[in-house]
Order: sequence, then structure tokens, then C-alpha cells
Amino acid sequence: TEFNLADAVRLWVDDFKPLAASYEVTIVQKADGDLTVKADYYKVERICYNLISNSLKYNRKGGTVTVEAVRRGGSVEITVADTGVGIPKDVVSRVFDKFYRVRGGGSGTGVGLAVVKAFAELHGGRVSVKSVEGEGSEFKVELPQKVENAILSTPDTLSKHPEGREPDMQK
Ligand code: ATP
Ligand code: MG
Repeated sequence: TEFNLADAVRLWVDDFKPLAASYEVTIVQKADGDLTVKADYYKVERICYNLISNSLKYNRKGGTVTVEAVRRGGSVEITVADTGVGIPKDVVSRVFDKFYRVRGGGSGTGVGLAVVKAFAELHGGRVSVKSVEGEGSEFKVELPQKVENAILSTPDTLSKHPEGREPDMQK
């Protein structure tokens, strides 16, 4: 499906505003203009949801989350940065592993980032993370701007938005 990633990022960030407020975290987006991509909308949405939910969950009161989408050559780059607890250096390479969690406690199953990585790679993209323990983390997902052979999900294979709000897209 073809859609404007900048518009989509604005919707997705808006979706998280109430949750961010309950965490007392400020969430801001930096995505504007025309950022047309050909990708699997629902997989890119899931990538962003998983990254944003982590950036809230592993943040601190009064912290910030910044979600950015930019074009870089023939790719688009989505960055989710937070001012949270960060990830210790010695384990940062493991966070994309299925079921890996840095601190056992709290809620979560350790699959969120494994899904982010798998979905990025289905698009021929890649993921990376930079983090400083006690300061924050920055997750990046780079996707080719046009993926001709992505395994495209359709609204009938995945649940629609509960408000029936669907993006303007062409199959
Ligand atoms: P799930 O997403 O399945 O509910 P989860 O959040 O524990 O559970 P992942 O999203 O895969 O699992 O993240 C793996 C681990 O990486 C987390 O348990 C957490 O320790 C660490 N982590 C992920 N994102 C961040 C972040 N933004 N800041 C600090 N630590 C993070
Ligand atoms: Mg998670």
C-alpha cells in the first residue's frame, strides 16, 4: 500500500497522547511534508507502536519521547528517541532477541522489539539502537521508500482501527 508516512506518524503519535499523559511524558512528532512510501501500512504501524510504547514504558516522569520520520536517499528513517532509563552497554546488542528483557520485572513479554526487527527486515530494512544507561535510548528503523514485494497485509488480514479510521491508501 502507498501512504504518506509523515501523515501516518502524526496519527500514530496522536494515538499515544493519552497514554503519554498518564505516564507524565511529553510526546512530540517531527514529520512533515510529503513522505510517500510503498510499504505494508499495518506492519509499519506495528513497528512504530512497539517502539513508542517502549519509549513511554521505559521513560521517567517528566521525560520526553520524540518520533521523527525523514527521507534519506531512497529510504525513510523512523527514529523514536526517549529520555528514559536507557540500556546497559553489555546487553544492548540483545534487545532485539525474542523474549529478551533487560529487567525481568514489570509488564511485557520481550517480543515487541523482535517484531520490530522482523517487520523491518520483511521490508528489506534494518534496525539499530543507541542508548546510554540512565539517559535514554534512540531506536532507528530504516525502510526502503518503495517495497515492491513486501508481504502486504490487508485490512481483512489484520484488525482495523477500532474507530474505523483508515488511511487513504491504494492496494
Ligand atoms: P513487550 O514489548 O513484548 O510487551 P518488552 O517491552 O519487555 O515486552 P521488547 O519491546 O522486545 O519487550 O524490549 C525488550 C527489552 O528491551 C525490554 O524488556 C527493556 O528491558 C528493553 N527496552 C526496550 N525499549 C527500551 C527503551 N526505549 N528504553 C530502555 N529499555 C528498553
Ligand atoms: Mg516492548
